[in-house]
Amino acid sequence: MPDYGRLRAALAAAEDDRIIFDLDGIEAQYDALLRELPGIDVRFAMKACPVDEVLDCLAARGAGFDAAGPQEIAQALRTGVPVERIHYGNTVKSDHQIAEAYRLGVRDFATDSLADVAALAAHAPGARVFCRLATTGEGALWGLSRKFGCSPEDALRVLTAARDAGLVPAGLSVHVGSQQLTSEAWQHALETLAAVIVEANRHGILLDHVNLGGGLPALGVLDRRGNPLHPPVDKMFTVIREGMQYLREVSAGPLGFLLEPGRHLVADHGAIRAHVVRLTERRQLDGERSHWLFLSCGKFNGLYEMDELRYRLEFPTRAGSPTVPAVVAGPTCDSDDAYADEGAGMPVPRDAASGDPVWVLSCGAYATAYTTRGFNGFPPLPHSCVRTNRPAGAPGPEEDPR
Ligand SMILES: *Cc1c(COP(=O)(O)O)cnc(C)c1O
Repeated sequence: MPDYGRLRAALAAAEDDRIIFDLDGIEAQYDALLRELPGIDVRFAMKACPVDEVLDCLAARGAGFDAAGPQEIAQALRTGVPVERIHYGNTVKSDHQIAEAYRLGVRDFATDSLADVAALAAHAPGARVFCRLATTGEGALWGLSRKFGCSPEDALRVLTAARDAGLVPAGLSVHVGSQQLTSEAWQHALETLAAVIVEANRHGILLDHVNLGGGLPALGVLDRRGNPLHPPVDKMFTVIREGMQYLREVSAGPLGFLLEPGRHLVADHGAIRAHVVRLTERRQLDGERSHWLFLSCGKFNGLYEMDELRYRLEFPTRAGSPTVPAVVAGPTCDSDDAYADEGAGMPVPRDAASGDPVWVLSCGAYATAYTTRGFNGFPPLPHSCVRTNRPAGAPGPEEDPR
């Protein structure tokens, strides 16, 4: 279970609704990841948390960025990170976007098709490319399958075409699906990578790196039925470490490794201070009486993923109150704005009253980026960051509320 100590203190101090990021927690998570996977370079997947303070903190720690287009590249550059630590990780890009990224100095591009390779050769001459291999997405809450990546056979065509077009066929990438819950997914991906590396080497293509993508899970979330997920992260790290070693052995040349974590670095270190709108009890058409807890925040202002997972909720002013099982939902007039109405409801205090503060834990990933501009008039949440371990020599307040 993640350590929510600093976040709880900040949530308790918050007087209005907001999302809070624990920068110390994010840094500690980053450091832990590097300890688990020595020799890996991190390219943070920006869409998981495009918050300047978070990006600054990761950049200062040595991370680079996986950007999906010119706008993210520009935001990454504002952290001061050298452009060599930014790659264009989106296989979907227009001529104009490629040219713009190239103008901004980016020289590493993901690809998975001959059409994209031709465009890269024209608009990013001489750039380095890495080919994304398709995965099934099995075992992940969000599979990312079909839209991205190509077969091993196509990968050889893509890499060869890149070389023939004056690009540098530099690497391979995979993404096993977001919130991946099995180590087997990594095992299969690493086996495929090994086969393609060997085949590419046989064709005279020496790759210099493998990008293992994102997918590492959040630890503090619950499934759609409210059960803790307990992802086997230790097993995943073992499989990845052994896989890296194996790939180094089969490769004809030295290999570096990149990882593009998004969720894993930020999910458990962000939390929302929301409030109770109303706890109701109604007879449904099937005759059953059910409780519904409506919160001030839901799918459109911070909890976009609430239909696929549940978050831990805490009611700081109702500790010890008897609870009732309730379906939890957001404040808007959209029935998608709710936890999946599946399994037992979430235990919520029977005496929850309008205005009570509610803490939503482990919701730091994909919260701000998926927030609408004001669906039904509900505005995006403001954000703040807490940081207690100031870098040496950096004076400043303990907390910087915006
Ligand atoms: C979204 C994304 C990631 C991050 O995925 P997580 O599951 O959040 O770790 C990494 N790489 C690419 C290319 C992505 O699109």
